Amino acid sequence: MPELPEMENYKLLLNQYILGKTVTDVQINRVKSINVPPEDFIRKVKLHKITYIERRAKHLLFYLDNGNILLLHLMLGGWMYYGGAADKPKRTVQVQLSFGDHHLYFIGLRLGYLHIHDVKRTAEVLSELGPEPLSNEFTMEVFQTLIKMKHTKLKSVLLDQNFLSGIGNRYSDEICYEAKILPMRGLDQLEKDEVIMLYKSIKEVLKTAINNGGYMEHPFFKGDTLTGGYEALLNVHGREGEICKRCGSIIQMENISSRKTYYCKGCQI
Ligand SMILES: [Zn+2]
Repeated sequence: MPELPEMENYKLLLNQYILGKTVTDVQINRVKSINVPPEDFIRKVKLHKITYIERRAKHLLFYLDNGNILLLHLMLGGWMYYGGAADKPKRTVQVQLSFGDHHLYFIGLRLGYLHIHDVKRTAEVLSELGPEPLSNEFTMEVFQTLIKMKHTKLKSVLLDQNFLSGIGNRYSDEICYEAKILPMRGLDQLEKDEVIMLYKSIKEVLKTAINNGGYMEHPFFKGDTLTGGYEALLNVHGREGEICKRCGSIIQMENISSRKTYYCKGCQI
């Protein structure tokens, strides 16, 4: 599932390609991917300009010039592609937004969705989310306060969107590795210097992932060499049986809170 860095990468690219552009056509191939009857959706989106694009947690928000917001969550398996009809990926497209002769294709939206809301409703939908880990508001003091309220395993807490937003299964493993802490440790067992290390690792891993295009397997446009560049840089996630780059031990996997969790026992304590 795309996490914070993947959605941030999409946001940066979408800002280059569709910001300020008018949606000239809308095609809905899967009604379940939207939240209103198709005719209502089309009426609210078609011939309206994209005025602002922002990310909140794993969501993207496309602001329209009529005050409505398209709220996207790709969930498991969703991705986007931007290009002309000749470049269209050979996949089923659930929703298509056209900008003249270029199109934004939403693909793999099974659990994922593209909903339309007004500003108030959008705020309600997102109201339970925890702080953005890369925001200035997410300080060490805030992190220490949040952590004191939790007594569960580190892995579970990092995945909890109400605790901290945007981190999922892959980056939680990478953050624990970067911090040299085992993901099954209880938060109440962490030493003060480990909490500091964890805080720094959250920021560091997410920033590095954004700078390297996240791990999406599909490019966003023809010739896109940035998107997905972080896949090769993952240290532990999906690398069971491989050798740890830091200490030479074998990477292990076990289920924690029913999520596949990867770690190195040689250098994470
Ligand atoms: Zn190691």
